[in-house]
Amino acid sequence: MSYISDDGHHQGWIAPVFLDGSLGISVTDAIVTVGYGPDGAYLDPADQQERPDTEVTGWMMVCSKPAPYREWPALTWRGSLWSRVRTPAEQDLTARRVCLSDDYNAYWEPAAMKATAEQEWKRHIASGGVCGNSWNEGRPDRPH
Ligand SMILES: [Zn+2]
Repeated sequence: MSYISDDGHHQGWIAPVFLDGSLGISVTDAIVTVGYGPDGAYLDPADQQERPDTEVTGWMMVCSKPAPYREWPALTWRGSLWSRVRTPAEQDLTARRVCLSDDYNAYWEPAAMKATAEQEWKRHIASGGVCGNSWNEGRPDRPH
């Protein structure tokens, strides 16, 4: 799901992240479609790959200008990366290590990180301005 800010300038969602920094945009069964490159640019559909959800290495909140359903604007802000660990013993939420075993579909973020990621996105909105085109400059909490 995605979130729209009250002022209508931001659309945030929690994206699954792969080791190379690419982001998933949809899932069918356990196969994730990779729709954004590591630079936050939307990939041409011909260049989009399908990868098993077991290859998801983490999640992060991302933001862009709001767009209609199934339109994919360039991402202009990203929050902190949460790394995926496979066992509860490895989980450390203060270090943003969150557990999701291979029994669950990793396209969907673990519930344990959700509230913190949403708070980070709300701080991004509260920092002022509209979403620009500063994917890298925006990391993690600078206004843009
Ligand atoms: Zn934004």
